[in-house]
Amino acid sequence: MDAAVTTEHFDILIVGAGISGIGAAHHLKDQCPDKSFVILEEKATHGGTWETHKYPGIRSDSDLYTFGYRFKPWSGHPIAEGGAIMDYMAEVIEDDQTTSHIRYRHKVTKAAWVSGDRRWHIDAVELETGAPVKFTASFLWMCQGYYDHKNPYTPEWKGMADFKGEIVHPQLWPEDIDYKNKRVVVIGSGATAATLIPNMADECEYITMLQRSPTYFWSGENRNELADRLRALEVPEEWVHEIVRREMLAIAQLIQDLSFTAPDMLKDELLNGVTEKVGDEELVKKHFMPRYRPWQQRLAFVPDGDLFEKVKEGKVSIVTDQIEKFTEGGILTQGSEELKADMIITATGFNLLAFGGIPFEVDGEAVDFGKKVTHRGLMLEGVPNMVYVFGYLRSSWTLRVDLICDYVCRLLKHMDAKDAAAVTPTRQDADAQMEIRPWVTEDDFNSGYLKRGIDKMPKQGDRAPWIFNTNYYTERDEMPAFDLDDPTMVYA
Ligand SMILES: Cc1cc2nc3c(=O)[nH]c(=O)nc-3n(C[C@H](O)[C@H](O)[C@H](O)COP(=O)(O)OP(=O)(O)OC[C@H]3O[C@@H](n4cnc5c(N)ncnc54)[C@H](O)[C@@H]3O)c2cc1C
Repeated sequence: MDAAVTTEHFDILIVGAGISGIGAAHHLKDQCPDKSFVILEEKATHGGTWETHKYPGIRSDSDLYTFGYRFKPWSGHPIAEGGAIMDYMAEVIEDDQTTSHIRYRHKVTKAAWVSGDRRWHIDAVELETGAPVKFTASFLWMCQGYYDHKNPYTPEWKGMADFKGEIVHPQLWPEDIDYKNKRVVVIGSGATAATLIPNMADECEYITMLQRSPTYFWSGENRNELADRLRALEVPEEWVHEIVRREMLAIAQLIQDLSFTAPDMLKDELLNGVTEKVGDEELVKKHFMPRYRPWQQRLAFVPDGDLFEKVKEGKVSIVTDQIEKFTEGGILTQGSEELKADMIITATGFNLLAFGGIPFEVDGEAVDFGKKVTHRGLMLEGVPNMVYVFGYLRSSWTLRVDLICDYVCRLLKHMDAKDAAAVTPTRQDADAQMEIRPWVTEDDFNSGYLKRGIDKMPKQGDRAPWIFNTNYYTERDEMPAFDLDDPTMVYA
């Protein structure tokens, strides 16, 4: 150990000051006020995802009544811009007086559990100075998100080096980018492409959305009628938040259920909605009819139908084809179409990064996350005193943040009551031979980043508590009742 580096100790160490980490801090302050905690965050400010993404129009694709915390009313448009989400989180930090708990520009580089002192030993780097810093913590709470914030996913296409214009990934949006009067091709068909395109279209000479295959979209006004009515009746914001949240959850659940029980009906509904906006049935058949079942990938909401408006106005064209190669002046498709471009935007997604890419050890042995089995989708077999946050795939991420926070606070209190310093999820003999499955199966949800990175994610078993439950309603009822003395929870 480096004698020159002092070690600070906290009851809980949180990695990440995104929506998960700031939520964790709130619930700790609220439910476990006697616990000391620190948040280590690599960035210079809070926000995580909402700080990283700065492309035109950056916005949520789910509503903020459910993406917002249950404890902090949302009063803006249901679909919110990145800046508004940053402001919302800043208010939570201020309301909770969390600032003094956050160490910005601190990158965690190693996490090692030592049974000898029943503590996590955390190495970090103070990025301003490059100085190493050390912490110990009784409990580690991983709120690091799920993707690499610095290295987005860009496939290698033939001829990329020949292209004379600029190639930009939306995740690394340059501050000085100039697309005015330029011919732009956006590669991709997901929520990012659907956001960027209408927000750039008026300034570009023209803009083409080049997609390998179509995505499901749904659309509506970016306002909530029920919220407006309640506010007109001067119902307090806390009530508005709770009531509209319940309404949004019920609608989302209905759509989710239909995606399994009546996928064809849901597909028709979604396509009819797009046809109504675009006004051209042939175009919808050609470019908006996906090959997968609705909700096998995230269903993107298009507020006020802005993308479809621009298509209708002729400001945006869509090409559904594969890329043959990049050329000096643009892209040649496999269907021999030449797309002229001054700028190519690769809205091609993320690289999954499990546990922030931080090397973990338990008593000197490296943890291979891809081989570990999850315990309730929030702890890992054989890894003591560590909870991680991974949100829902089909409902707002933050719904699960609030639930996990309740669970952690209950667990911390339970450990105190038992006078236990460690809890380790441990498989019982009866579960030794259970079937081991991926974190998410391709049939259930097949987003590109998960397909590419699934081997890095923990596995799940075929039975509780060794599963990741992706349904909000069942978890909402079950998680508060999880038996903390279940034999798989081994205390020491
Ligand atoms: C453009 C976009 C739109 C999205 N829209 C929605 C939506 O509408 N609804 C929805 O439910 N989900 C949405 N998502 C998914 C979204 O990422 C999550 O919902 C949520 O924001 C994740 O929050 P988080 O705090 O868990 O992780 P992140 O936002 O990824 O934050 C993690 C933080 O941890 C820090 N960190 C990581 N590793 C380290 C380390 N080693 N040391 C120190 N700090 C570290 C990072 O710097 C980061 O600040 C969207 C994602 C994107 C990219």
